[in-house]
Amino acid sequence: MKLKIAGVIPESVVDAPGGISYTIFAQGCKHRCNGCHNPQTHSFEGGKWFDIEEVLQDISDHPFTKIITFSGGDPFYQAKEFSLLCSKLKRKYKLVAYTGFLFEQLLADEDKKELLKHLDLLIDGPFVKELRNVDLDFRGSSNQRIIDVQKSIQANQVCLFKLAD
Ligand code: SF4
Repeated sequence: MKLKIAGVIPESVVDAPGGISYTIFAQGCKHRCNGCHNPQTHSFEGGKWFDIEEVLQDISDHPFTKIITFSGGDPFYQAKEFSLLCSKLKRKYKLVAYTGFLFEQLLADEDKKELLKHLDLLIDGPFVKELRNVDLDFRGSSNQRIIDVQKSIQANQVCLFKLAD
């Protein structure tokens, strides 16, 4: 199975709480948030196809990486493919994803819910220019939430993740 990817940053310190992240930017996004910083990732025609095995190999070539982040674009437009990747990564890494969908919307779609179930953290919601706040960690606008996914699924309600001071 293949993933459509706009690019990767193998050792990023700005994409996820808790350390060095291998960040994958999914190609394709329909949210069209006004002021999006990655408009080149919107088209589903752009980017490049990568076999999941190739991605796994590149991740394992970066041994300092303990976190895998899925950004975009929006990885939830390739929910089945990213689910498969997650199922091969889960035990060794903390898994984080960004999405323009709301947590509640992901729960209502079987494929998206399946991907959600693999994650540790989700930063959800569209970027809203009027709510832009440069002081927020890991978010562009104040409507976006950092969600503890496993806790939220267990509690059947959104549980926010508290960043370390
Ligand atoms: S969800 Fe993200 S990538 Fe998609 S338009 Fe909004 S800010 Fe841009």
